Amino acid sequence: MKPRAVLIYAPSWIGDGVMSLAAVRAVRESFPDARLAVLTRPWVEAVYQAVDAIDEIVRYDPRQDDRGWSGFWRTARRVREGKFDLCVLLPNAFRAAALIKASGVKERWGFATEGRGFFLTRQVPQPPRPFGRHQAYFYLDLVAGLGLDVPDGAPDTHLDVASEVADGARRVLEQAGWTGGALVGVHPGATNSRAKIWSASRYAEVATRMAAERDAQVAVFGGPKEAELAAEVLAALSGPAKETAIALQGKTSLSELMGALKFLTVFLTNDSGPMHLAAALGVSTVAVFGPTDARETGPLGPKTTVVREPVDCSPCLYRDCPIDHRCMERVSVERVLGEANALVPTVL
Ligand code: SF4
Repeated sequence: MKPRAVLIYAPSWIGDGVMSLAAVRAVRESFPDARLAVLTRPWVEAVYQAVDAIDEIVRYDPRQDDRGWSGFWRTARRVREGKFDLCVLLPNAFRAAALIKASGVKERWGFATEGRGFFLTRQVPQPPRPFGRHQAYFYLDLVAGLGLDVPDGAPDTHLDVASEVADGARRVLEQAGWTGGALVGVHPGATNSRAKIWSASRYAEVATRMAAERDAQVAVFGGPKEAELAAEVLAALSGPAKETAIALQGKTSLSELMGALKFLTVFLTNDSGPMHLAAALGVSTVAVFGPTDARETGPLGPKTTVVREPVDCSPCLYRDCPIDHRCMERVSVERVLGEANALVPTVL
């Protein structure tokens, strides 16, 4: 088959978006002459905009488009206008397949899940998901199952930021007080999970000490819902790190966040969307893991390290810990500091 226009229905979250990039690149390689578009949510859009393999973004905003049938048909019309011959559906949802069928896309390929086989023209049984297999392979398994070529080797999830994105991020950083030197970044939050959060005061201590050893400033990141956690980190910093700290929580768009991450000397983070972004951008990233499995959703990138303490109850995938949060409580400041210093030595 030689489609002229291919649409990839993207996952809904930043981390999943990053982990899907190897599959997106494999689709591109299989159809080098086609126009390649991605149907994506606005809050993930910048991830795909940073990928050369993609020609076009089709926006799907559930805050408007999920409101009943009129929204459904509005999105279907938007997809129809793109005149796509083929859609590869990365998410498993029934509604995704129904939407693409309603859009009139002739070829609709995806996993045969949620009883949606009726909407698909090529379906792949979802393979078993063995413990410890990275989520990036979930998407690659789909592409391979569809009969498309998947390159050997580690999944290529790298991201680049355009120079204008970097310039915009530099302005945001400078307006927030950056003087242009070394930066220790901290992202103390995690969307929809309290169990994934390491202590704000411990992050502050690691960041304070790393900044002191590198004559660096500390930049604290977070979404609007993470303002309180970010404020806790900022309050718990000490010495010059506190005086020169840069508060970025709730102040960056996704593309500004990606640009700002590129300026970091090191990034300290929980298992989160920004963790995946930083790793994919090649930023030195230290990720603290507790209830989730780093083998499955760990950072993919050349300069990453995961810190976790082995506890019998992990991975549990709980959003709130039903016991004493030992998976995170047992991760010490010294441990994270040691791993971070090993990843980013002060003397190169
Ligand atoms: S049950 Fe165990 S792994 Fe899960 S959040 Fe609690 S301490 Fe962590």
